[in-house]
Amino acid sequence: MAIATINPATGETLKTFEALNDAEIAAKLDLANQAFEQYRQTSFSQRSHWLQKAADILEQDKAEFAKLMTLEMGKPFKAAIAEVEKCAVVCRYYAEHAPSFLADVSVKTDASQSFVRYQPMGAILAVMPWNFPFWQVFRFAAPALMAGNVGLLKHASNVPQCALAIEDIIRRAGFPEGAFQTLLIGAAKVADLMADERVKAATLTGSEPAGISLAVAAGKQIKKTVLELGGSDPFIVLESADLETAVVTATTARMLNNGQSCIAAKRFIVAEAIADKFEKLLLEKFETLKVGDPMQPDTDLGPLATPGILQDLNQQVQSAISRGGKVLTGGHPLSDRPGNFYPPTIIIDIPSDTPIAKEEFFGPVALLFRVPDIDAAIKLANDSPFGLGASAWTTNSQESDRLVEEIEAGAVFINSMVKSDPRLPFGGIKRSGYGRELSIQGIHEFVNVKTVWVK
Ligand code: NDP
Repeated sequence: MAIATINPATGETLKTFEALNDAEIAAKLDLANQAFEQYRQTSFSQRSHWLQKAADILEQDKAEFAKLMTLEMGKPFKAAIAEVEKCAVVCRYYAEHAPSFLADVSVKTDASQSFVRYQPMGAILAVMPWNFPFWQVFRFAAPALMAGNVGLLKHASNVPQCALAIEDIIRRAGFPEGAFQTLLIGAAKVADLMADERVKAATLTGSEPAGISLAVAAGKQIKKTVLELGGSDPFIVLESADLETAVVTATTARMLNNGQSCIAAKRFIVAEAIADKFEKLLLEKFETLKVGDPMQPDTDLGPLATPGILQDLNQQVQSAISRGGKVLTGGHPLSDRPGNFYPPTIIIDIPSDTPIAKEEFFGPVALLFRVPDIDAAIKLANDSPFGLGASAWTTNSQESDRLVEEIEAGAVFINSMVKSDPRLPFGGIKRSGYGRELSIQGIHEFVNVKTVWVK
């Protein structure tokens, strides 16, 4: 894939970039390693100061950064603004809490003194996706930099200007040269990076094939990885649920980021007793959404990020139809305009045991399933290769306890949509990946947990 900015709302190529050659990559890896030797000696208060400064820059120039995101991958401008603000929050969160998260932990044993010390590992590679081009990077960079690691960013090839802007923010914040570098390279170079001794570990957010490829390359070198891959999150609505609120939230949870979020609600599993009403209300909501220019403030749904994403999504929809699915609204790309526009789409009656019902739909398409009771709801929710998040709606506390206990996912949200929060761990199980980002768990992923024993 060429490294380029192609406006997904118009199809116009705005800027192309040369990929780094091998000598340029080697020079950046050397710089990262030299920087690490100095950077690891800096104090928490110094790192916190720089990270707070990065948060200030994000807040001051949020409109500029949001515009870049919308231009490169098509998310509505208002959502892009919120994304930049959230990046500032995660910077401030780790600036404040990292010192306590990484303080020595004393453990009483028969030694005169024994404790755990957290030490940085070195250069960590982040292979990042285009869907949250700022947030995904900052939620890696903030804890990694506070822990004393240095960062190498291989961003998705369709968001190069975002990648360069992030490197610039971190440099302007005062972090030393080489503490965080963007590598403009294609995916084919990632395996070589993993084989290079100057790269110590890696994190990847993206598709399953990308995750597998990185994990294989890292595994050959016994290097640690964190993988945050796809999801087909269930959104379960039981009979006692507050239906109106559930429908409003269902719409937001499916349409967030033009439907291209790993934790978007994708499979709507609704109790038979309320299914007719839910379906009617959801259809009404979907049909009121405004599809169009993502720069306009009243746009709810912009274009998909690339023509490939649009094509894949449409193929999945047609495949669902050929297996018995009925389309209530949408169901075809919007061919009356340039760009990668797909309308809000609802599909019902897909047999739940067909392979297509278990795939991830990365776009504004909701699959609706009806179930007789909570047992069937949990069974269907868990009948997925993925296990990222789950949202479930009930006002019955016994049902709520069962959903929390029995749903196979990295996160269960009751009467709310799934969302990431710097204070809580984020990540999946099954084919959604492993490891955690955010919170104390996130910062502990890329450190040497050193046991110290003094007789
Ligand atoms: P990819 O997984 O291909 O891209 C994500 C990142 O991984 C990019 O930086 C990409 O680089 C890189 N990458 C791709 N292939 C490899 C590889 N073999 N080895 C190392 N790195 C690699 O996502 P796509 O953009 O192709 O989207 C396809 C599907 O992935 C979506 O439909 C969705 O299902 C899923 N996805 C999930 C995301 C999530 O948030 N969990 C985010 C994005 C996608 P490059 O851009 O240069 O190819």
